[in-house]
Amino acid sequence: MSGMRFDTRLVHGGRRPSAGTGDVVPPIHVSTTYERRAQDEPRYFYGRGENPTREELEECLAGLERAPFATVFSSGQAAAATLLSLVRPGQCVVSTDDVYAGTDGLFDLAARQGVRVRYADLTTPEGIAAALAEPDLALVWIETPTNPLLTVVDVAEVSRRAHERGARVVVDNTFASPVLQQPLALGADVSLYSTTKSIAGHADVLGGALVYRDADLHAAVRAYRTTAGNVPGALDCFLVRRGLHTLSLRVHRQVATARVLVERLRASPVVGAVHYPGLPEHPQHAVVKAQMSAPGAIVSFDYLGGPAERLLDRFTLFTCGVSLGGVHSLVECPALMTHRPLSAEARARRGIGESLIRLSVGIEDPQDLAEDLSRALAGGT
Ligand SMILES: *Cc1c(COP(=O)(O)O)cnc(C)c1O
Repeated sequence: MSGMRFDTRLVHGGRRPSAGTGDVVPPIHVSTTYERRAQDEPRYFYGRGENPTREELEECLAGLERAPFATVFSSGQAAAATLLSLVRPGQCVVSTDDVYAGTDGLFDLAARQGVRVRYADLTTPEGIAAALAEPDLALVWIETPTNPLLTVVDVAEVSRRAHERGARVVVDNTFASPVLQQPLALGADVSLYSTTKSIAGHADVLGGALVYRDADLHAAVRAYRTTAGNVPGALDCFLVRRGLHTLSLRVHRQVATARVLVERLRASPVVGAVHYPGLPEHPQHAVVKAQMSAPGAIVSFDYLGGPAERLLDRFTLFTCGVSLGGVHSLVECPALMTHRPLSAEARARRGIGESLIRLSVGIEDPQDLAEDLSRALAGGT
């Protein structure tokens, strides 16, 4: 297992010897209870604790980052909430200021429990220094690339500085996936995933995961999950595990198409700024090159040709909808959709204007997608 390269681990990771039947695809264990002898302490005793199908997914995810531990959850939010539950009242969480909107919501809940939450610009040395000077710093929360502006944070640098302060570093690695970015290898302590997105990849299952090395953290995370019950069911774990087989194929295809679409956007007279980590003029392009193997398949841009909703209506292949990373290409307007719950001032502070459009590039034929984009921008159908 450990000798296998990444794409092989996607296919074979977590696979256990079949119980005599020769199954290439492991059976799905749906049982919620297990026969036992009363006096024993079996590994499997109730479905809210351990389940073999769940464990196979966890072993595969851990192996992708060469980590000893992974724990999966019923959603990305459940994974994030579990990690935040370990921060005590009075302790501080410092976060990148352009985080997933659901993460903002979890920070609000943590703040109500007495956790101090501070947002910071972690893209500059001064921003990092100021943020990490907070007393009682427990956790540094990095999302990179960010949503929807694709800002990039230097994971190695922030991790090094956070560890000097004794704080733990989590990277929400949902956008990049372990194919493009490996936070633990860069020095972070925890990789967080919404497996709902590229990992499962087919827009048909919710899930989340934490991947890490620390055994004490593992004990705390498992104790919380077993008690809180935010576990994924076996059928969901099966779907996420099945998605992993093709993760690398899908992501590389999506990145190649994204590069084509970015060129179309840059050539269009009705497009202003294009946000994409693969562009040489991206503000953190050097960091992108150092920590990502490719720039991903999420692109955002300013549409200057009229109201955003008119543009969205003109797409025929890109589906107007939230979420990302799946096989279907999606288009959305953050101000109207994913980031609507934020106040207009909060959006303005983050640079999310009414004309910002976000694409999540799927696996359809690249030429079809490019034509759909060009037609929508040109105003015809
Ligand atoms: C979707 C998403 C989440 C939340 O995951 P769910 O599976 O929807 O609960 C967290 N972070 C990022 C970056 C996401 O895109």
